[in-house]
Formats: sequence, structure tokens, C-alpha cells
Amino acid sequence: MFRAIVLEQNPDKSTAATLRELDESALPAVEAGAVDVDVDASTLNYKDALAISGRAPVVRRWPMVPGIDFAGTVKASAHAEWKPGDRVILNGWGVGETHWGGLAQKARVSGDWLVRLPEALDAYEAMAIGTAGYTAMLCLMALEKRGVVPGTGEILVTGASGGVGSYAVALLARAGYRVVAATGKAGGAEYLRELGAAEVIPRETLSAPGKPLQKERWAGVVDAVGSHTLANACASTRYGGTVAACGLAQGMDLPLTVAPFILRSVALIGVDSVMAPRARRVQAWERLARTVDAPLVGTVARRIGLAAAVAEALPLLDGAVRGRIVVDVNR
Ligand code: NDP
Repeated sequence: MFRAIVLEQNPDKSTAATLRELDESALPAVEAGAVDVDVDASTLNYKDALAISGRAPVVRRWPMVPGIDFAGTVKASAHAEWKPGDRVILNGWGVGETHWGGLAQKARVSGDWLVRLPEALDAYEAMAIGTAGYTAMLCLMALEKRGVVPGTGEILVTGASGGVGSYAVALLARAGYRVVAATGKAGGAEYLRELGAAEVIPRETLSAPGKPLQKERWAGVVDAVGSHTLANACASTRYGGTVAACGLAQGMDLPLTVAPFILRSVALIGVDSVMAPRARRVQAWERLARTVDAPLVGTVARRIGLAAAVAEALPLLDGAVRGRIVVDVNR
């Protein structure tokens, strides 16, 4: 038997989330190369909060165990690459959406979806980074690929005190960039400066409708927010700059003109962590293991037990949560 958060759809299409004891025989089948994992830690991401609350149609199959990421130890493996005792991480691949996810003590997944846990990290640290930190690293790598390197100018991070934002600020600052963090949280400035932000600006400077072209400021942007914020970020990006878009905390819309692209050669790059190719994931996790240390984890993350995860979903969607929430599934 193992404990899991189970999501079910009510007749009125709302979502019911309960903590249950399940038999291992309930674990979903995997076509080939199935790996059973004893989960040590999972996290509460924005997408998990959407799934648990039912605010957006994240869940595609019912019942569902949410949790788009986890770290754990291989218990049994029908996949050539993995053997019992291997320490692994999983991010995305539809886990927690179409396939049972990490907010449980056990998971059965395809071995193709797993990445080896870097030596330097334990399961808690890996999940303190989680999909948020891994996505922030993908954004940093996307900026680098377009030639936005330290010294090219200021980098704007939006949604800065959230999970992706916190890691974006810290990773960019540690890589040598000058980071400007936009936050809506009262008292967020001290936290963001501790993470490495050189300057902190109010979220409101970006969140209202703005002009198609604005004063050029950013060499690069990591945007976790979408909507008017992303539009204003593009409109104030310098000639030839790059905007990495990964989130929609303000909204999925993008009220933008083509002006920044055709007049300033700005590039808008989409960053997806869910289906990212394996080689890029491995590269991102290796860099994260080299960059993230215990003090950073201590600043960004806090730990809760599995039973508490459901109650944390709504505050997270309301933008009231700072940093990352790691879920100790065995507590
Ligand atoms: P969090 O909830 O931890 O962070 C989101 C942050 O956005 C909040 O903390 C807040 O930061 C800001 N925010 C919240 N509401 C608003 C609003 N209405 N207007 C402007 N800013 C707002 O979520 P995550 O960091 O986990 O995820 C951030 C986004 O990135 C989500 O949309 C998520 O779905 C997406 N994401 C995408 C991935 C991908 O593969 N592309 C992977 C992971 C996440 P502050 O108070 O500092 O302003």
C-alpha cells in the first residue's frame, strides 16, 4: 500500500482532491520499459496547483495523481538503463496530467522519462530546484544560445519571487548577469536581493496595457507571467535582445504588436520543460548541480508533508507563495 493524492472529477466538473491509501496494483501500466520508483520528494508547482484546484484543464485522465515532478529511488526496472537503487529525477512528460505523478509515495513511469540525479544533489535539494529551477535553467540556456551573455546588458525577470522567477534570478546572478527582478509581493525586495537581484521593480510597472515600443532597456528577459507583462517586456527589450517566455501567471493572452520584432530585431523564444529533449535536460540538471548550493536551497524552499499539499494550492495560484514548496511524500 502507498499514500497518494488522488484527483477525481465531480459530476459538476469540479475537482475533488483527497489523500488516499492505494494498492500498488493500482499504479498505471507503462507500454514498455516501465520503472517503479519509491518517491522521496515531489513539489507543488503552479501547474500542480491548477490541477488540484481544477482552475484549468491540466488533468486529461481521471482519476489522476498530480505532481509534475519527483525525485526518488528505483525499486524495480524493465528498462535497460535503470536498476534498483538508482537515484532519479522526473520532470514533465505529461506526468501529473495524463499519467500518474509524483504526489505519492510510489510512481510507475517510462524509464525514458527519467534523468539520473546528479551526485551533488540529494532528493530534497533536487526537488527544491524541481521543474521551476530546471525551467529557469532552460531559459538561461535559451538566452545564451542567442548571444545574451553577461556584460551584454540588464536581464529582466518577471514573477520573480515565484518558483521559476526565484531560480531565474539566482542562476542569472550567479552566472554574472545584472538582474532586475519584477515582483508584486510586498517585502519581496529583500528576498530577491538575497538571491542576487541588483534591482527590484514593482510588478505594476509592467502589468498594465502599454505602448507597442517603449524605452529600450533589457538585453534579455525571463518571463513567467505572460499577458501585458510579456508584451511590455518585449516592447522595452533592446535592439537584438531576447525574451524567453515560459509562463502565464498573469494570463495566457499576449496583447502585443510586431513592432519590437520588425523594428528592433527582438526575438521571442518559447521555453517548454515538459517535452524538452533528454540531452538538454541532462545538460540543465548538470549545470544546476554545479550552481545550486545549500544556502540557496535554504533561502528558496520550504518543506511540507503530503497531507498539506492540497491546502497550499490556492495560495500558490493567488501569487501568495514565495519560492518553492517541496513535498516530503513520506511525511
Ligand atoms: P509560482 O506561482 O511559484 O510563481 C508565479 C509568480 O508570478 C508569483 O509568485 C508572482 O510573483 C507572479 N504572479 C502571480 N500572479 C500574477 C499576476 N496576476 N500578474 C503578474 N504576476 C503574477 O509559479 P511557478 O514559478 O511554478 O510558475 C510560473 C509560471 O511558469 C506558471 O505560469 C507556470 O505554469 C509556468 N511554468 C512553465 C513551465 C514550462 O515548461 N514552460 C515550467 C514551469 C512553470 P511576484 O509576486 O514576485 O510578482
